[in-house]
Amino acid sequence: MNNRQKAGSGRIPPKKGGKSFGADRSAAFRKPLPDPAANRQSASASACPYAQRCGGCTMSHIPYPEQLRQKQQAVTKLLGHLCRVEPIIGMDDPLHYRSKVHAVIATGRDKQPISGVYARGTHHVVPVRGCLIEDPRADAIIQTIVGMLPRYKLRIYNENTHRGFLRHVLVRTGQHTDQVMVVLVATASEFPGGKAFVAELLEKHPEICTIVLNVNQRETSMVLGTRDVILFGPGYLEDELCGKRFRISPQSFYQVNARQTEVLYRTAIDCAGLTGTETLLDAYCGTGTIGLCAADQVRQLIGVELNADAVRDAKENARLNQVTNARFFCDDAGRFMVKMAKDGLPLDVLMMDPPRAGSDEKFLSSVLTLRPKTVVYVSCNPKTLARDAAVLVKGGYRIDRAIPVDMFPNTPHCEMVMRFCL
Ligand code: SAH
Repeated sequence: MNNRQKAGSGRIPPKKGGKSFGADRSAAFRKPLPDPAANRQSASASACPYAQRCGGCTMSHIPYPEQLRQKQQAVTKLLGHLCRVEPIIGMDDPLHYRSKVHAVIATGRDKQPISGVYARGTHHVVPVRGCLIEDPRADAIIQTIVGMLPRYKLRIYNENTHRGFLRHVLVRTGQHTDQVMVVLVATASEFPGGKAFVAELLEKHPEICTIVLNVNQRETSMVLGTRDVILFGPGYLEDELCGKRFRISPQSFYQVNARQTEVLYRTAIDCAGLTGTETLLDAYCGTGTIGLCAADQVRQLIGVELNADAVRDAKENARLNQVTNARFFCDDAGRFMVKMAKDGLPLDVLMMDPPRAGSDEKFLSSVLTLRPKTVVYVSCNPKTLARDAAVLVKGGYRIDRAIPVDMFPNTPHCEMVMRFCL
């Protein structure tokens, strides 16, 4: 089910169904040692030399206010026939927002290891450094790892021969906790010299709270395999959103722009108009983040999510935050909704946050059967939102709010929060 998530989608040519973005290939934005102060002022005026080859940050040459104007125009074009689109909510500082950084490890021309990003639509690795949208702490760790590889004689994976050990490095950083998780994606669970490698990496980067070896033997462009071996620490990362604490496993989805996620969630929860008496369904809930942030404002919270690791995290997150009115289910959201509709379970407010492919017929027709008084649709793809919104409108819903939120500055992607009422 990995391809349904953003998790680990990294700088791989995009795959169907995933909530993955050009932003995931954001290493395009990496430039030689940028001056952070200068970047802040001319943030988007300085195009990345790799932008065209990677295709991640194709708006990087456009000043940020103009990027926002263009996004506003694009979403209005897609959704304007359905409702009035409110002004887009941008970021104060549109740089270094990515808390998930993925590097492909490859062998360079001089036979030395390099880290980088696949050139757009290819599997040719462009060695890049100093990405302007990624968390620089992640880049520093990736560079340390690359520098350590020759001494540990770790064989780099070769995509053509499918031989070698290390394939990718994934770094996730907590925005509020300062915790850092490192995932080494390799072809085997035996890591020769692993203990010494881990010890040296921890010595150089004491900020790392956990290191996981992810085993991916498949000849595929999926970054993560299904098996995780914990090399150090608890095997997950903790971060805070809207005053709640969340644990995130390597395989679980977590929004990549934590700073702006709080803005997104507050906007969505505000739209839900909760009064404390409702049954709220958080569909496509990931690690339960949106629902748990709203749990104090409802009578009961139900979450449904397909990824088993994320569901496990969601249950643990409820416990971590002493939320006792929440239940989480591992299921296809559409199938779950059909069951709810069949059983005639009451549903007051539906929060839905599907992947880029949007929702499906099963799910939407069950919404029309259950008829929650409010539906808040959080979408990372205005095209599929327009398609799904039309179904709900045809079924009797009225759209009264549509708020774009810029979760991915310097890329053309735009998140939307849309409210439907009966
Ligand atoms: N609301 C969460 C997750 C949003 S990403 C957050 O803000 O973090 C979309 C989520 O939908 C992912 O966790 C993905 O695993 C899940 N998903 C994808 N297809 C699904 C399906 N058919 N049924 C249920 N969940 C699904």
